[in-house]
Amino acid sequence: MQFHLNGFRTGDPAILEPLEGAEIDAAGAPLPDKVDVLIVGCGPAGLTLAAQLSAFPDITTRIVEQKDGPLQLGQADGVACRTMEMFNAFDFADRVMKEAYWVNETTFWKPDGGAKNRIARGGRIEDTEDGLSEFPHVILNQARVHDFYLDVMRRSPRRLQPDYSRRLMDVTIDETASDHPVTVWLERIDAEHAGQVEVVKARYVVGCDGARSGVRKSLGQALKGDSANQAWGVMDVLAVTDFPDIRLKAAIHSATEGSILIIPREGGYLVRLYIELDKLNADERVADRNLTADTLVAAAKRIIHPYTLDVKEIAWWSFYDIGQRLTDRFDDIRGGGVGTRTPRVFIAGDACHTHSPKAGQGMNVSMQDTFNLGWKLAAVLRGQAAPDLLDTYSAERHAIAKELIDFDRDFARMFSARPKEADDDAEGIDPAEFQRYFVKQGRFTAGTATRYRPSAICAEPAHQRLAEGLPIGMRFHSAPVVRLADAKPLQLGHVVKADGRWRLFAFAGAEDPAAAGSTIRALCDFLSESPASPIRRYTASGEDIDSVIDVRAVFQNDHRTLALDALPPLLLPAKGRYGLRDYEKMFCADLSGGKDIFDLRGIDRTNGCIVVVRPDQYVAHVLPLDAHRELSAFFDGFMLPQG
Ligand code: FAD
Repeated sequence: MQFHLNGFRTGDPAILEPLEGAEIDAAGAPLPDKVDVLIVGCGPAGLTLAAQLSAFPDITTRIVEQKDGPLQLGQADGVACRTMEMFNAFDFADRVMKEAYWVNETTFWKPDGGAKNRIARGGRIEDTEDGLSEFPHVILNQARVHDFYLDVMRRSPRRLQPDYSRRLMDVTIDETASDHPVTVWLERIDAEHAGQVEVVKARYVVGCDGARSGVRKSLGQALKGDSANQAWGVMDVLAVTDFPDIRLKAAIHSATEGSILIIPREGGYLVRLYIELDKLNADERVADRNLTADTLVAAAKRIIHPYTLDVKEIAWWSFYDIGQRLTDRFDDIRGGGVGTRTPRVFIAGDACHTHSPKAGQGMNVSMQDTFNLGWKLAAVLRGQAAPDLLDTYSAERHAIAKELIDFDRDFARMFSARPKEADDDAEGIDPAEFQRYFVKQGRFTAGTATRYRPSAICAEPAHQRLAEGLPIGMRFHSAPVVRLADAKPLQLGHVVKADGRWRLFAFAGAEDPAAAGSTIRALCDFLSESPASPIRRYTASGEDIDSVIDVRAVFQNDHRTLALDALPPLLLPAKGRYGLRDYEKMFCADLSGGKDIFDLRGIDRTNGCIVVVRPDQYVAHVLPLDAHRELSAFFDGFMLPQG
């Protein structure tokens, strides 16, 4: 963490200096007439976006929510490895790690041979394959995730807070208006202001308002797909049991009583049980069945037999029906309209895709939607990128949601199928097959399989062989390095913060990087001096040199053998009001653990390469170190020159 750049300050460095007049964002105040971005809904999707936009004091953001305060008890609890990587960009992954349950292993239970009324353990696996991420898969109440995002917002220069007790009534778009073309009507629903209607004009509106989204309806979009046909119950319990795997994630398939997924929860005692109930008839909803918590407890006891389950307290319980549904687009552009005008209204999260909760994807994918959108909105609003950058949001995230829906349909079907009774039992599923499927899909459920297709912000993989372990379109997979200036071991990926900046990692080849003619020096000279340099073209005068594109170099050398002052000056830039040197741009391979970052990520040791990383941590390009023109051409494809 870097601070004191523009002068010494006491106190918590995570609390950023307030923007003058930030108190106007204080809770309870009326909404302004005009904003840059209005977010509807304080779920995981809305809060990720609000936290991201709060990093930019020059953008006026508001987030409205119909509830009267922060969420106290959430439904979702599974936090995938990829989501932890994103949390790290917001600087709260360590808090989640400390508080959460870590899902390290999963067990599979099935009918005990001939004894149909007993279950027995059939398998035990690592939940997440080794090396998939530096972060674990964890379980933590969604409400705590909300708290962490609210902290990020509260500490931002604008001291952003949600505007609670506001219910969305309508959204309209005036396509002829050049400025603030979206009008939003909100009803105040707290006792003091009940019945008051606020009208806000916005440049952009993002509907993060869940499965019954009013924003989606205002766009005339519908969730399409399979209707629900399988009822499930879920409860968080404090219970006494002799089931031995109660502190492991456990998938239990009984012979005749259905299935349970056990998810141990944070704190050491609480356990979540997902319990399979009956198939629903056509057009029947689970709510029609008048089910109770007792129904759930009784079903759980039958499935877990011969083990006992004595439920002492039910912290939360609910029923739901599974259906996989998706909207056609995630913005307000219709039919062949892409490219004819700028999208102004977006939808994200459950507002545009719904699926079963058992694979623990909903919250994770919803947050990744808005992490994808946030930096794009900021870049366009701040005049750094052309508005058609915003078309990539629906294109990229719709494809991912479609993959999720297809995966979830298979996963839910396999989970709900009864165990095979004999080899010729066509309707049953072999529990071993379910276990194999679970392992095979591990990267998908960890969120690390996401791969964006080639576009203006994801290049074709012409030079991918230079960094085979950092595929273009996939998230930048971190690895250990040692910081040159202070010998601190750290994860390279952790320098990618949720601050809207692009990262350009220059991995040095076999040559001496300090030599006068080294390719890394030539690259740095090009970036700092050439009029064609994307840094010079896209950084406004007076801004720090790394404020738009942040260059970092990684050397193969032992950090003790490399002289900091012999390396290119771009890697020791002068910043801020005093021109202080930034000593955190140079790293060396960590040689302490066998394989170093060059081995782990398949980086060409002879030639090195450039890896361009988007503000949302996805690899956008891999290039030879001397491909200066190609590097410029990539940024020229979507950035706007600055004066
Ligand atoms: P939501 O969380 O639904 O948030 C929408 C917000 O918008 C709400 O706060 C709502 O009050 C507000 N809102 C709605 N309408 C209006 C309006 N008109 N005006 C103002 N505000 C409005 N996902 C996982 O990833 N992992 C899990 O383990 C998991 N477990 C789950 C368990 C259960 C039982 C269920 C039902 C879901 C689970 N999910 C899980 C799914 C997850 O809860 C959702 O996918 C996720 O919450 C979606 O986030 P969101 O921000 O899109 O919408």
